Amino acid sequence: MKSLSEQDPEVYAAIQNELERQRNNIILIASENFASRAVMEAQGCVMTNKYAEGYPGKRYYRGTANVDRAEVLAQERCKKLFVGAEHVNVQPVSGAAYFAVLKHGDTIMGMNLAHGGHLSHGSPVNFSGKMYKIVPYSVSQETERLDYSEMAAIARKNKPQLIVVGASSYPRTIDFKVVREIADEVGAKVMADIAHIAGLCAVGAHPSPVPYSDIVTTTTHKTLRGPRGALIICKDELAAAIDRSVFPGTQGGPFMHAIAAKAVAFQEALTPEYRECQFQTVRNAIAIAQRLLDNGFDLVSGGTDNHLLLVKLIKEGITGKEADETLERAGITLNKNMIPFDPATPFVTSGIRIGTPAMTTRGMKEPEMVQIADLITAVLRDIKNEKTIAGVRSQARELCGKFPLYPDLA
Ligand SMILES: *Cc1c(COP(=O)(O)O)cnc(C)c1O
Repeated sequence: MKSLSEQDPEVYAAIQNELERQRNNIILIASENFASRAVMEAQGCVMTNKYAEGYPGKRYYRGTANVDRAEVLAQERCKKLFVGAEHVNVQPVSGAAYFAVLKHGDTIMGMNLAHGGHLSHGSPVNFSGKMYKIVPYSVSQETERLDYSEMAAIARKNKPQLIVVGASSYPRTIDFKVVREIADEVGAKVMADIAHIAGLCAVGAHPSPVPYSDIVTTTTHKTLRGPRGALIICKDELAAAIDRSVFPGTQGGPFMHAIAAKAVAFQEALTPEYRECQFQTVRNAIAIAQRLLDNGFDLVSGGTDNHLLLVKLIKEGITGKEADETLERAGITLNKNMIPFDPATPFVTSGIRIGTPAMTTRGMKEPEMVQIADLITAVLRDIKNEKTIAGVRSQARELCGKFPLYPDLA
């Protein structure tokens, strides 16, 4: 059989160019990371050929001994990683958790998308917002942090069946214990969506929601640094409902190659090196935050406790859209982001989101973060100056060159 480069030069070229882009740019998208070579090798393996509907030991097809082994390894390692996890399903892609505990028309309390929540927490354009009644909660205008007493008041008034807690752009620690208390008072279940902070939670760099949640969902490709995918952890009493809701409820044959790669990623996440990397990710975010504050920028909530921070650009008179477009040309990839009570639309925004997982995986530490904060500052302070942009681009490339990415990939 032919190799990819012989078989399909066009796709091959796109992939090679993507490798170069990842190598030569400072990537600060808070939801991105670099999976290890081992994870990528597993994800590109022959298990992509296998049908395995069902669960290990209870499949609808023959010939599943090897994929069963991979899935059991993924389950066992995931339980070890998230201490106290009673049951885990490593097959889901999205959405299944809701179907396990809600009926059409039930009420979900979820974080306001404009304040850091996620599309899947009840946006009108997502199935969650179409199937369920959504009651949003917000951050306090004064502190820009979650307001747990307001959350409690909203819960008492609306009696949701489910409280979803977790965010895509919230830079502060989430108090899962208090959310549990609020839910217990109104008889709601708690679903913690730790897509962003899963790696931090696994190693104790952020408190774990596992003891306080009926269901914990996460992606596997953000701080967790595995293949693109997801998983669900739940209490034993919900195990059968969750499993049925993933298959046959919402999905068919599982992506066994991705599940094998998840097993590899969970094993990596159990190592001291990974643990240290998660704590460094937080220290790096704090270092960028501090330098940007020193450089005169405003940050949502004034700083960060986790792997990301949000810069408010109102005072600078530039939009998130201008900022992320210009920074990309300067070799710094990040995204525009709504800030709490943002006067601009989601396509424009008044902020940018900065995350440190990817560059920390590359080996960068506080001194590089200070340098990156200064490069961002140079561009944002002189946003129309093409000479500045070109200068930053060459400095960004030089910095990346000191931290080789996938050196053994051709
Ligand atoms: C990233 C994320 C998800 C999953 O989003 P995908 O687009 O499916 O990867 C879910 N919840 C939160 C809070 C997230 O940040």
